[in-house]
Amino acid sequence: MSNTVLELREVSKIFIKRVDPISQFTNMLGKPLGFRPVTGHTVNAVDNVDLAVAEGEVVGLVGESGCGKSTLGRLMAGLQDPTRGSRIWRGIPVAELNAQERKAQRMEIQMIFQDPYASLNPRLKVIDIIGDAPVTQKIITKSDKANYVNSILQKVGLPAGLLDRFPHQFSGGQRARIGIARALAVNPKLLVCDESVAALDVSIQAQVLNLFIKLRQDLGLTYVFISHDLGVVKHISDRVVVMYLGRVVEVAPTVELFSRQHHPYTAALLQAAPTLTSGRKKFMPVLGEIPSPLNPPTGCHFHPRCPHAMTRCKTEAPQLRMIAMGRLTACHLND
Ligand code: SF4
Repeated sequence: MSNTVLELREVSKIFIKRVDPISQFTNMLGKPLGFRPVTGHTVNAVDNVDLAVAEGEVVGLVGESGCGKSTLGRLMAGLQDPTRGSRIWRGIPVAELNAQERKAQRMEIQMIFQDPYASLNPRLKVIDIIGDAPVTQKIITKSDKANYVNSILQKVGLPAGLLDRFPHQFSGGQRARIGIARALAVNPKLLVCDESVAALDVSIQAQVLNLFIKLRQDLGLTYVFISHDLGVVKHISDRVVVMYLGRVVEVAPTVELFSRQHHPYTAALLQAAPTLTSGRKKFMPVLGEIPSPLNPPTGCHFHPRCPHAMTRCKTEAPQLRMIAMGRLTACHLND
């Protein structure tokens, strides 16, 4: 893509989960016996992902809990470094930037988290929650702080003049808007929203989603929208990326993905989501257990749950390949 802002190339994130094999052997008082050697299991939270996000685009990232979508979001936002692979911002690998350039680049991508209750410091006033970072980053001077914060509050649909209030004095929807205002205060180009409306009531969710859409139009923002709610993703995204156990299994424009799926996991995911006639469009588990990421199935990770699994699926991991313009899938059925 010529107007790519952020690109991940062959990015993997591996965590070492520490295990203590003899901690379960305890004496009668429950104290561990003997010394405790610690070993580790590796978890491929994100496994060799290639992904490009175009300027002004809204990319929805979906998958079941534990599929690695939040870790991928944090890698995109630069909150974590990949174990392997590179992160490229406007054509330049972030690893090649000097410290000052990296600091500036970090401001251009902001993350908005799920819980507006937990993500705001309860001891800080609104003026400091929103205004501290732009002062530190020298975007504004200290004397401009109040006016600047008031202008950002208005951008997110809150009245000016709330500067001296604390987070507990606001409703959940207002706190979500304050979280968005904090992110906007440093003039980001890309927002990574991790389940940013999941903790809100449905009617408030709709208002906050509409705010995201308005901000995209007004400020030319680019979004990566991580959600387990397919209704939310369908409403806001231009393109959807489906993840399963750390791997991207399908990528497609939103309208096409919801009308036809080329990966059995995506199909199962959409079938499992209730429609308007059967209730709220909330993400439901796909048939079968999600395998442990500590010991994922060989070959195609989805094969134990896939109704179309073939012999080769157990040994050969399918590659993510383009099957039509803008459509990618990782399934042997599409060979
Ligand atoms: Fe199913 Fe095989 Fe395709 Fe995996 S590669 S989704 S197991 S058909």
